[in-house]
Amino acid sequence: MLKLSRLANVNNPQQLARRVSIVRWIVPFVLFAVVLFFETSEHIVGENNADVNFSFELIVFGVIGPALVLLILTWIHEGLIQLAQAQDEIRALNANLEQRVYERTVELAQANQQLQQLDRLKTEFVSLVSHELRTPLTNIQGGLELILQDDTVPNNNSLYDILQVVQSEVLRLSNLVKNILDVSAIEAGHLRLNRGTVMLRPLITQVWESCSLTGQIDHQLVVTLAKNAQTVWADENRLADVLTNLLGNAVKYSAAGSLIQLSAARQNDQIHLMINDEGIGISEVDRARIFDMFHRGEEVTKQNIQGFGLGLYFCKKIIQAQGGDIWVEERSDGKQGACFHIVLPIDRLQSHNGDETGYGDKE
Ligand code: ADP
Repeated sequence: MLKLSRLANVNNPQQLARRVSIVRWIVPFVLFAVVLFFETSEHIVGENNADVNFSFELIVFGVIGPALVLLILTWIHEGLIQLAQAQDEIRALNANLEQRVYERTVELAQANQQLQQLDRLKTEFVSLVSHELRTPLTNIQGGLELILQDDTVPNNNSLYDILQVVQSEVLRLSNLVKNILDVSAIEAGHLRLNRGTVMLRPLITQVWESCSLTGQIDHQLVVTLAKNAQTVWADENRLADVLTNLLGNAVKYSAAGSLIQLSAARQNDQIHLMINDEGIGISEVDRARIFDMFHRGEEVTKQNIQGFGLGLYFCKKIIQAQGGDIWVEERSDGKQGACFHIVLPIDRLQSHNGDETGYGDKE
């Protein structure tokens, strides 16, 4: 059985075709010789003369039979040749395909390298430009503050109003530059965090005051911190940036005079912060994407409200880098507006005090 399959060599139709090509001539010839031998011994040797049966049987068994065998073997031979050709073509295609895949892989690797280099260049360029912008902006900001505090500039004329607008625009630009620098540091993996105990109330007060500098804020902020949720374990400056972005958005996307509520509660070993506003709210589709870089909601684009779509991307990276999370939901009381949630680890140094419950003082 084994020998037969080796003889047939089914994996190599070309070799098999060569063998069939030889056999197709030998077999009919051998058949003719065998039939001739038997017919001769049956009809001529036995009866001493050739009769009609001899010629008939010789033609049927000795000529037509072997001819049929020759035909069948020739047909098989042709089939095997075609099979061999098809196999050769498939092999060639395969080799070609492998070569092409290899070439494309090399091209992709090169393109990827170029992209990475471009990305590095972009990050370096952005951070260089932002650095260069930061210093003059800080100087302009300082100068404007001095002018506005100067008693010689009367605060009831249009020049004063113009200077205030300029100051708020400069602050907006400074925040943008800061965000861009932070985002490029995050992208480059250079984000450095300096974590420790952060007292929430003074931080929120300071952030709210600096938000007020960017423009006339008529909103009302209500802060409700549970007794056991007065501190978190975080990088204070970075958390201030996050709160600046979130409170700034709450102001920007809601009507003057509306209420913004910031609350904090303890949840196991985390502090849960919530910022509720009464603004335009965020659709379900946008809620899934607003933390993506440069994504801006449909409604704010429609209403042409200024923005860059960087703030929330930055907030998410900063909060996640500190072992926390940030997300947005509809307001739980069913009112119009957005509700941003942040969870951060509890303050490690004061966590032994953390069993108290209930909400504390209000601001
Ligand atoms: P920007 O405010 O500059 O557009 P952000 O990354 O801070 O960028 O916000 C992304 C988008 O999320 C905004 O464009 C807006 O559509 C939506 N958004 C953020 N905060 C609020 C909010 N408090 N109320 C409604 N929409 C908001």
